[in-house]
Amino acid sequence: MFSQAIEQDLHHCRKCGMCQQVCPTYKITRQEYFAPRGRAQIVKHYLEGDLKISPRVEQALMSCMLCDACAAFCPSGVRIDRLFRNMRLELDHIFGKPFSKRILFSALSKSSRAWKASAAARAGQSLLVDTLGLQLKVGNIPIEKLPRPNKKPFRQTTPEKLSPKNKKVGRVAYFVGCATDLIYGDVGNAMLEVLLRLGIEVVVPQDQVCCSAPMFLSGAAKQALPNIFKNLDIFDSVDVDAIVVDCATCGSALKKGIPELLEDLGMDAEKSKRVAAKVKDISQIVAEHVDDLPIQDSCSGEPLSVTYHDPCHLIRGMGVSEEPRKILRSLPGVSLVNMEGANECCGGGGSYQFDNVDLSREITLKKKHNIFATGAKIVATGCPGCRLTLAGNLSDDDCTEVVHTIELVRRSLAKEPE
Ligand code: SF4
Ligand code: SF4
Repeated sequence: MFSQAIEQDLHHCRKCGMCQQVCPTYKITRQEYFAPRGRAQIVKHYLEGDLKISPRVEQALMSCMLCDACAAFCPSGVRIDRLFRNMRLELDHIFGKPFSKRILFSALSKSSRAWKASAAARAGQSLLVDTLGLQLKVGNIPIEKLPRPNKKPFRQTTPEKLSPKNKKVGRVAYFVGCATDLIYGDVGNAMLEVLLRLGIEVVVPQDQVCCSAPMFLSGAAKQALPNIFKNLDIFDSVDVDAIVVDCATCGSALKKGIPELLEDLGMDAEKSKRVAAKVKDISQIVAEHVDDLPIQDSCSGEPLSVTYHDPCHLIRGMGVSEEPRKILRSLPGVSLVNMEGANECCGGGGSYQFDNVDLSREITLKKKHNIFATGAKIVATGCPGCRLTLAGNLSDDDCTEVVHTIELVRRSLAKEPE
């Protein structure tokens, strides 16, 4: 399963341990097998045939958040994140997936199934909140704090093509991730409004499906590939300047994860690279046009203090960190306050908070502490997973709102002339 290049990369590890200082799971546990260096040695010995996969070994490998901090920091340039992703393909091959994951992946592999599951969750959530209130938790998040799914899938609420009223300056295709489609429909509406006000035509291909990152990051390549091929066919054939995303995980999957996965599986990755070249996070597009944003003239009262959390998949997956800050600084009445450890993982990591409850809680607590130290009343971010984690772990008494950056842009737009 492992390509020669990845195996060789493993031998470039000098075992210096520099990566430990940025690894969120090592910083909490202080255990070598919860550190990048230790996990890399596990993979090495497995590949050399002198280590069998025991439950403890599996736990060490599956408790990595795939936050990429180690790879970004390693002085020897070891692509340790790619190594671990490949090892998960191997683990899936050996053990398969638990029933709960198989159900989840079955839903994600078909939009209609995902919607039925989401609608059932909406009904079930209301019932459980009424009967059990805050007692029931999903992972670390009280069920009452989970966002309510959309009443209708976002994509069904929008036409396939939306043209701006003013002079057209560009044309983009919108990759609507599952989170916006099923839960955060307001983010989708904010995306459309901001792009149209900037004069950008938006195409929303209706047949698009889940980007498949939750599947292939868990090692389930077989379930992920049909989605990947379907999306590549759709987005490679649409004539646009850019493919825009509002989810850091979808963006990082389309930009980096999918081309690498196809290469690692020995498949033709050309189409995925053509698509990847066009993928942009919404903050990159808005930052490019920030001077053309139709913003309100002024805002009265105290400046609203906002802090920004860098999602791992946005800062390290897509190389985007300055753009959202540039946008936030340009909004009237907003005062951007930097957070210590803004680029450190929030503890979410897809389904991590449900699979590794205690470790995830500790990492999120640290992030909460850093948020409170800024005194900011709003946390802006660019990933629905981080938003769900942060908002789900804040109580109403914390008086802190978590939003997608694009929602703050939308709130600042001047009224459209009649
Ligand atoms: S992965 Fe990089 S930083 Fe970590 S021990 Fe190996 S060489 Fe050092
Ligand atoms: S990807 Fe993140 S959690 Fe995993 S070993 Fe590297 S730094 Fe630690």
